Amino acid sequence: TKFEELGLSQPLLDAVKDMGFETPSEVQEKAIPLLLESEMDLVALAQTGTGKTAAFGFPLIQKIDSASRTTQGLILSPTRELCLQITNEIQAYSKYVKGLNTVAIYGGASITDQARQIKRGAQIVVATPGRMKDMISRGLVDITKIDYCILDEADEMLNMGFFEDIKDILSNTPKEKSTWLFSATMPREVATIAKKFMNSPTEITV
Ligand code: AMP
Repeated sequence: TKFEELGLSQPLLDAVKDMGFETPSEVQEKAIPLLLESEMDLVALAQTGTGKTAAFGFPLIQKIDSASRTTQGLILSPTRELCLQITNEIQAYSKYVKGLNTVAIYGGASITDQARQIKRGAQIVVATPGRMKDMISRGLVDITKIDYCILDEADEMLNMGFFEDIKDILSNTPKEKSTWLFSATMPREVATIAKKFMNSPTEITV
């Protein structure tokens, strides 16, 4: 399979070319067409290094309305490092999409700076659960109108004790949205999140 066969728009294919990606990885081949063609909940069992960031990043970027400044997509990730890495990847993939802003929200850095970036308009927010919860409670970010919520490395986030934070954050999101959960393993707590917050998700394994 080629990237051209997955249904991606030209600005994204141009970015793929710049990145030097030659062929889609397995998780990309499975997830991208599914996520592009309909609104659905997805559980993907995939390890890091499999190209999963692009597997959810490309469909997310393509589905976002970059003409609107409303926050439409939220990506939760376990650590600051991963949060920054995902943000950098999404920014690289969306470099030819005019007006699309992606902002990283994580602990250990100035909340005022992050709030300022959010205020300028960020269609995609990539966040760690603790700082996200903090910013929601201070009214510094609005996720009540998101269409897409991605839980990346869900097993890691739950291992790190973010279960309550994730539940709190998800309860601030609209019921009508698509949730895409990525995890390397499927322990009971991940299954609980999937059951409680997702609607008959499609499952893929790589
Ligand atoms: P991830 O699993 O999302 O952390 O991605 C691992 C690494 O693979 C990242 O550095 C990506 O830039 C890279 N990558 C993602 N998709 C592809 C692809 N189709 N071909 C080559 N490299 C890729």
